[in-house]
Amino acid sequence: MEINKRVIIVSNRLPVKIKEQDGEMTYHTSEGGLATGLASIYKQNNNLWIGWPGAIVEDRVKTKVEEDLQQKNLLPIFLTQQEINEFYEGFSNETIWPLFHYFPTYTTYNPQYWESYKAVNQKFADAILKVASKDDVIWIHDYQLMLVPQMVRDVLPEVSIGFFQHIPFPSYEIFRILPWRKELLQGVLGADVLGFHTYDDVRHFLSATTRILNIDGMANELTIGNRKVAVDAFPISIDYKKYRQIAEDNITRRNERKLKQLINHNKLVISIDRLDYSKGIIHRLRAYELFLQKHPELRGKVTMIQLVVPSRDNVPQYKELKEEMNRMVSEINGRFSTLGWQPIQHFYRSFPIHLLSALYKAADVALVTPMRDGMNLVSKEYIASKIDQKGVLVLSETAGASRELSDAVLVNPNDIWEFSDKIYSALNMPEDEQKRRMAAMQQTVARFDIFNWVNNFMDKLAEVKAQQQAMYTRRINTSIQQKIGIRYYYGQKRLIFLDYDGTLVPFHNQVDAAIPDKDLLSILKKLSEDPHNTVVITSGRDYNTLQAWLGHLPLDMIAEHGAWYRDHGKEWRSRRDLNNEWRHEIHRVMDMYARRTPGAFIEEKSFSLAWHYRKVEEGLGSLRAHELMADIKHFVSDQGLQLLQGDKVIEIKSITVNKGKAAKRWLEKDDYDFVMAIGDDYTDEDTFKAMPDDAITIKVGNNVSAATYFMSSYAEVRALLHELYMAENIGDQLRRDAGILKEAS
Ligand code: UDP
Repeated sequence: MEINKRVIIVSNRLPVKIKEQDGEMTYHTSEGGLATGLASIYKQNNNLWIGWPGAIVEDRVKTKVEEDLQQKNLLPIFLTQQEINEFYEGFSNETIWPLFHYFPTYTTYNPQYWESYKAVNQKFADAILKVASKDDVIWIHDYQLMLVPQMVRDVLPEVSIGFFQHIPFPSYEIFRILPWRKELLQGVLGADVLGFHTYDDVRHFLSATTRILNIDGMANELTIGNRKVAVDAFPISIDYKKYRQIAEDNITRRNERKLKQLINHNKLVISIDRLDYSKGIIHRLRAYELFLQKHPELRGKVTMIQLVVPSRDNVPQYKELKEEMNRMVSEINGRFSTLGWQPIQHFYRSFPIHLLSALYKAADVALVTPMRDGMNLVSKEYIASKIDQKGVLVLSETAGASRELSDAVLVNPNDIWEFSDKIYSALNMPEDEQKRRMAAMQQTVARFDIFNWVNNFMDKLAEVKAQQQAMYTRRINTSIQQKIGIRYYYGQKRLIFLDYDGTLVPFHNQVDAAIPDKDLLSILKKLSEDPHNTVVITSGRDYNTLQAWLGHLPLDMIAEHGAWYRDHGKEWRSRRDLNNEWRHEIHRVMDMYARRTPGAFIEEKSFSLAWHYRKVEEGLGSLRAHELMADIKHFVSDQGLQLLQGDKVIEIKSITVNKGKAAKRWLEKDDYDFVMAIGDDYTDEDTFKAMPDDAITIKVGNNVSAATYFMSSYAEVRALLHELYMAENIGDQLRRDAGILKEAS
């Protein structure tokens, strides 16, 4: 992270809770993992944390609260009761929360909630914009604020924005249910780095953006306009050292001794979570009940301490969950208890940290079995607290933590029968195996702690910004365009290579629909009619098409990536050294895949075959393309062929044919004082690489390229070409500019 940049953290809740007692404001700082991790940032210099202080603050004390919090580098956003009801409890907790945790039946779709969500997000964005400048780093947290990144980006286009989502990102099939899916995606994509806990969340997010917004990316990088956006997994964690210290503390040791006495030195099973339907509390109770039923010999010898931290219990579903949980606990206790033993000790409250730590230390088994969880920190705290490394973690495979903690006993919380067996085997796991597993998990949690998480995220944000800036300096702007114009004007012998699809015309679903329009024909005509110019169209298309579309213009052409070429006024010629014996076999395999894939088709060129999947269902096309490539890859290398992966197309051709090689023929013909090449595809990289050092090379798009400059679209290319031939007409002006530039340099 660059130390000299100011960092602004933004989350729904500030890391304090405020209370008014006898006219005095009191502030309780949060000890939570996120607050601890981010403390190293927001408390420094003039950094800042913006958020809601967790209570409704009356107007008369707002200024006082602002002043008090300012001392702690905190900036409060005050919410009204209605905003809390509609934005926070409504859209955040009754719409996004259940849907993203795979509870679509619990999801409320209320336009009023959505309006409030938008308005409060705007309120947060306004507060940020009031204090932020374009050089700051803004890190926005979680699902309550998904619209804020783009709202800030709209006003500060260059600012560095990170977004981290602390809950799961659901699979596309779930996410698409949401009426406001598009707006939420567009909102978060205002960030430069989007962080999730697991690779699965990343995959789901990328799939949703591809399908809903039609945005394509390379691996986990997306291009939004001219901006590169990185989507990555950053599994959050805990302050490992702190949990170990607390576990070693005397208060904890005393608590642990007392606890063991109280449960008669029984085997201890713990269950700790917030009251939430995503936590699998009911399924866990059922599995424990089944376990007791299957193992009468263990009754009286095992105790479960169930700690449930109160949460959202004014929301109807949470109220129902609480009632059901209470009913089940009393049913199980009623059914199995003896005079001296109760199978479940139930607590509905929060424990102080030293008691919590004693629970972790004393537990033989921790059941951490949510139906869904972004990460789950209880599992990591349990591992950190195990000084003697004795104890077993039973963990849901649907908790984010299961991706890192593969030495836990993994369980599907819906499979109650197997779950109950796993409770039994966890209680009977040999001590050396317990230690082996615990040691491995401790190593992971110690290494990837909360501070590592913060650093990784901030480093990524800095890296992406640096990449964007490097790209930005190579992006063609007015001054670069002017310099190209001057060189063009003074050029006496100019050679210009232009790719066709994606460079001069946009992509079309129908390959034959990319026919040149009047505007393009007029640009190419003017450019190629200039006696100082040699214009070469360098295309992958077949020569018949190029001839039909552009044959009437005074320009040269390269077709099929160099297998065919034509000098203006002459016949088309092909390379003599190419053979076509491979065609039959490749065609047979391509045809097999085309018949299995609606929308796919083969394009036949005289020295190559292309398999197009632009019109194939999203996802299926690239799947089939990969299958096809795997199928033919040995044949391709044995036959000295090359496999090109273009935009929704794969093409097979002789390895000796490429645009660069073809371009050399023109370069060797004469001495040029102005050479320029423009292209968008990776087949154009061969052209760029073949150009002399002083050539002007321009890539259309945002991918890594050997070209010197970047442009965004075919429209910009046309505008540049237009400017160039106009340069002849505005020569005087340019001469003056050249004078100015020379003086300046
Ligand atoms: N926790 C607590 N008081 C308690 C029991 C638990 O503050 O009595 C804490 C626990 O230490 C953990 C957090 O609550 O840090 C729960 O985090 P987790 O990621 O497991 O679930 P979340 O509640 O964030 O969904």
